[in-house]
Amino acid sequence: MTITVRFAPSPTGNIHIGNARTALINWIYARQNAGSFILRYDDTDKARSKQEYADGIARDLAWLGIKPDRVERQSERSEAHEAATQKLKDSGLLYACYETADELDRQRKRLAMRGLPPVYNRAGLSYNAEELAKFEDEGRKPHWRFLLPNHKGDPSQPERTEIHWDDLVRGPQTVDLASLSDPVLIREDGSWLYTLPSVVDDIDMGVTHIIRGDDHVTNTGVQIAIFEALGATAPGFGHHNLLTTASGEGLSKRLGSLSLQALAEDHYEPMAVASLATLIGTSGPVEAVATMDELISRFDIASVTKSAAKFDVSELDKLNAKLVHELSFGAVADRLTVAGAVGDEAFWLAVRGNLDKVEDAAFWWQKIENAAPQIDAEDTEFVQTAAGLLPAEPWDETTWGTWTAAVKEVTGRKGKGLFMPLRKALTGESHGPELAAILPLIGRERTLARLS
Ligand code: GLU
Repeated sequence: MTITVRFAPSPTGNIHIGNARTALINWIYARQNAGSFILRYDDTDKARSKQEYADGIARDLAWLGIKPDRVERQSERSEAHEAATQKLKDSGLLYACYETADELDRQRKRLAMRGLPPVYNRAGLSYNAEELAKFEDEGRKPHWRFLLPNHKGDPSQPERTEIHWDDLVRGPQTVDLASLSDPVLIREDGSWLYTLPSVVDDIDMGVTHIIRGDDHVTNTGVQIAIFEALGATAPGFGHHNLLTTASGEGLSKRLGSLSLQALAEDHYEPMAVASLATLIGTSGPVEAVATMDELISRFDIASVTKSAAKFDVSELDKLNAKLVHELSFGAVADRLTVAGAVGDEAFWLAVRGNLDKVEDAAFWWQKIENAAPQIDAEDTEFVQTAAGLLPAEPWDETTWGTWTAAVKEVTGRKGKGLFMPLRKALTGESHGPELAAILPLIGRERTLARLS
């Protein structure tokens, strides 16, 4: 059986780094097992789902290096969802309820006051004709609940009923169905919540493993019961830990800064983002991995830990810089041109070790092309002497050594006192790439002009 996974975002906003984690873990699991990865848009919420968000998700996944084997849309599968709904209704497992949100809230408060868990009382199973007529008169529309199989024939007597699964991440798991309210599957306006369409699609699409965030663990207990009510065998499950911001807040689609789009626009390397989003919150080291293939061979889903992991942008910066320092000219040439750093390979090799982001190369390109020299008053004479000692062209990476040896000899300066005034005069900066590498790029004429 082909291992089949799905990433099932609702296209109701930009996906963030936490969604990327789910997508990546699914993608890697599929690739490790010669399996198939489905991108499934959970777009049953018509009011909030937007095509532009769906397009954005496809774009963001492609940026990360994820190429779905199949794309599906839940909104196109309402016939299948309808059929399953009918099947559950026919078998008495989906029942109409008329309580308002306020009434349910009051019920929960009453239970809480008696120290009881806030479990729905299943009143919907036994309304009398008078009650139904009253709801009708008031113009109430029903919502529909799934009758959890937590009783031995009499739903008013729920008993502890354990659902078990061996989680790919968390190991053996147990959910007691008697501790849960019968879940609402259909809202008053007739629309489905994600719970049932998801199960129907997972069955029809041959999903073998549902890998998602651990905020869904309780859902899994419910969904396994729905799989079985529909006559299917539940697939395998894996629930990974969630990411929070560095300050411990949950991620949400409203949190624009950690959206993949924002990270891409900020010029982060996709593999830096993918490395961190995948390897953080595992028992292994968090390292900058240069290629998706390497990440696939390195990641083990069982190494994901149970507690939430903090996504820290400063950690991303470090991983990013590490990757950038190793990138070849060929890998970045086009981006350099776009960024306005139109140097050649020698330029790239000279500056890459000083960059946090590839596009920052433009800064050093400007410094090479057109720096405003900085010469402190006490160095004026020294710099002029140095100018007089500049070797003749052609220049190469040995020129700096030859020149500064001569300057040292004549002026008696050494170390920082020798190099710093020259660096500041040549680049206008007190830090930067190796001068041996950038001196030939500046060239004799411009060097002379900056020293005088
Ligand atoms: N659309 C659901 C969500 O984004 C999918 C959950 C799942 O993977 O089953 O939460």
